[in-house]
Amino acid sequence: MITGEGKGRRNGRPKDECGVFAVCNHHGPQTAAQAAFLGLLALQHRGQESAGMAFPGPAGLQCHKGMGLVGQVFPREMLATLPATAVLGHVRYSTTGVSSIANAQPLVARASNGGGIALAHNGNLSNDDLLKRSMLEQGHIFHATSDTETLLATLFRYRRLGLAEAVARAMETVEGAYAAVLMDCEQLVAFRDPHGFRPLVIGRLDETVVFASETCALDAAGAAFIREVLPGEIVSVQGGELSATAPVAGMPSAFCIFEFIYFARPDSNFFGKNVHLVRKAIGDRLARLARPGLDMVIPSPDSGISAAMGMAEGAGLPLEWAIHRNPYRGRTFIEPARGERELAARLKYNPVTDLVRDKRVAVVDDSLVRGTTARQLAALLKNAGAAEVHFYISAPPYRYPCYYGIDIPVAAELAAAADADPARLAASIGADSITFTTVEDLEAAAGGGGAGYCTACFDGRYPTASPDERKVG
Ligand code: SF4
Repeated sequence: MITGEGKGRRNGRPKDECGVFAVCNHHGPQTAAQAAFLGLLALQHRGQESAGMAFPGPAGLQCHKGMGLVGQVFPREMLATLPATAVLGHVRYSTTGVSSIANAQPLVARASNGGGIALAHNGNLSNDDLLKRSMLEQGHIFHATSDTETLLATLFRYRRLGLAEAVARAMETVEGAYAAVLMDCEQLVAFRDPHGFRPLVIGRLDETVVFASETCALDAAGAAFIREVLPGEIVSVQGGELSATAPVAGMPSAFCIFEFIYFARPDSNFFGKNVHLVRKAIGDRLARLARPGLDMVIPSPDSGISAAMGMAEGAGLPLEWAIHRNPYRGRTFIEPARGERELAARLKYNPVTDLVRDKRVAVVDDSLVRGTTARQLAALLKNAGAAEVHFYISAPPYRYPCYYGIDIPVAAELAAAADADPARLAASIGADSITFTTVEDLEAAAGGGGAGYCTACFDGRYPTASPDERKVG
């Protein structure tokens, strides 16, 4: 569900939802908080709105969190002095619930006897509305607006059964995407929903056990990759020892294929597949669709680089850095009024005119959402003298919303949903043509590796009932 302030700040691209990082049984030269800091920094691309860490303290679970980037929220002095041997960390981008400190994670629920649990969650519960309504009817009071609070409240009900059993019980009622880590003062438990929409990996650094949304965070913390938390699996850590429940049987795997296309860092791996290499393989599929007579391949900055490399290699065309993006325009830039869009585009992007003049260029991007960026780039390249501008998109057209934690605009705002005809779509963004990959291309490039994929935002085939279906039903 797309709600709250996040909507106003989108720049026409899908947004990721969260990153989770946890360390347990840590006795190294650096503190557990320092290790978590490194992991969270590596996951910063998954969420830039807030960051937080929960850890056992003398008076029960403590939590430090704030709005902003990891480096802004955690002062160095604090990291060096935290004595905890276990830390649960999180970076957030809001998909359900507004961007506020109340929704920043980890979320902590405290019991009257001083005990408590802390939760860091990546994903989105697709039956959150239903669960919330039922809890409100039973008198539960919510302090925040995110679906993570619903998950926490469900887990809290069962906490006396032990963390792993509490998760198993919660899994009977919650639906949708959750890759999460739960902790109390004694134990830490990592779990994924039975479809495995969002990633969660296990690493080790000597006696320290690490959980992270992506392998790049293990690398940053100096931990070695052990394995993935399997879909529907609950992995417990106590005293450095791992134990796991058998994954929920009979649920088809539905790993979000978008992690490969766009969200994950190129240096991360899923199912033994490197993200950058998968993106190159998607680019190679685009090369098979390349029209004759192209002079060069240009990556859309900075999102189409890997796929553009694959397309250039596959098509035997030069890869040219022909569009420069100004990374410093950032927050100080005031969005111009409607009539000043050209100025906005010029401040953000600048083409290398000598490269593109009189050339037929292929621009590769990893997504076409509202078409805003493509429209800007097409106009810039044409104004710079490009003879023809052809767009190649390393994803199929988005036509449907995501209920599993990715902030994709509603269908009415999607360029490809508004016009399914590629020729008209190209004309609407000022390009000469636009070519998309297919779901089959993506699955071929990503390979099986034991995983099935969610492709619902492209083909509408949702692995769980969508909130809309529930309303109808
Ligand atoms: S609907 Fe799209 S973005 Fe959402 S989980 Fe499925 S593939 Fe990923």
